[in-house]
Amino acid sequence: MENKKHFGWSQNTLIALLGITGCLGLGLMLPVIPGNSETHSKETINIKDLSLPALTEESIEGIKSSMLTSWQKEASTKGVRNIPQRFQGTTFVEAKLPASEKVIALTFDDGPWPQSTSQILDILKKNNIKGTFFVVGQMLQEHPDMGKRVVAEGHTIANHTWHHWYHYMNPQASAFEVDNTSNLIYKVTGVKTSLFRPPGGIKTNGPYAYAKNQKYASIMWSSDSVDYSRPSVPKLINNVMREARPGGIVLMHDGGGNRSHTVQALPQIINNLRKKGYRFVTIPELLELQDKQLQMLAVKKK
Ligand SMILES: [Zn+2]
Repeated sequence: MENKKHFGWSQNTLIALLGITGCLGLGLMLPVIPGNSETHSKETINIKDLSLPALTEESIEGIKSSMLTSWQKEASTKGVRNIPQRFQGTTFVEAKLPASEKVIALTFDDGPWPQSTSQILDILKKNNIKGTFFVVGQMLQEHPDMGKRVVAEGHTIANHTWHHWYHYMNPQASAFEVDNTSNLIYKVTGVKTSLFRPPGGIKTNGPYAYAKNQKYASIMWSSDSVDYSRPSVPKLINNVMREARPGGIVLMHDGGGNRSHTVQALPQIINNLRKKGYRFVTIPELLELQDKQLQMLAVKKK
């Protein structure tokens, strides 16, 4: 637990930034920061109350816009994506898209892991595919370079708790599991994640409830490779293909144990899905597609 206070500095800095830019609605993009518009405006008032003589209304506006610009610049280079508002604090199993929209999301849990994570990254790179990696905080702490590589190669990095515990955790422990992982993801990669996956898909042991409350989208899956039980390679491929459907989310593991079968199966899984006409998207892309689809349906109903 000694890491708990470790990221206090960056969080305070971010809260200060939120205070300044609060009216611009950045709060929604930063689920790790507790607070609401009321606290943001209080922060703004506090800054004005300090009445540093050089800070005129104009210069404050200037600071606001330059901070927003630099944040946007950082966001676009680091691949930070805000998720559509309708999915904040919700649980997402798969996208309901027209059968003609043949997209599927490959997701990899429990890394970063020596060997298997880089082997999977190599395969994805060779196939020009972007995936989504739900990392375990303590593993990212051990292998920060691998986390950096995930993001540098255009994949989405997301929160899979600090310890990957299944047992019940009280609200404080749950907050630790979620917050420290997101803080480390930010510290290592510069990405502010809004995506959470509960270990084992467990919704009743604390972290899921906390993440939901913090407006994370909890991402489940529709196609389970069951690779954690190390089935034979053909069986693993079949597990994925059997449940593959447009808008689906495939669950695989780059970490948590020996993943040589997953590494062996992945090229074939990609080939099979491609032959069936699928293209590959990240979870934020899948959420965007679902959002657009729902918007379209709403317009049609009117
Ligand atoms: Zn897991």
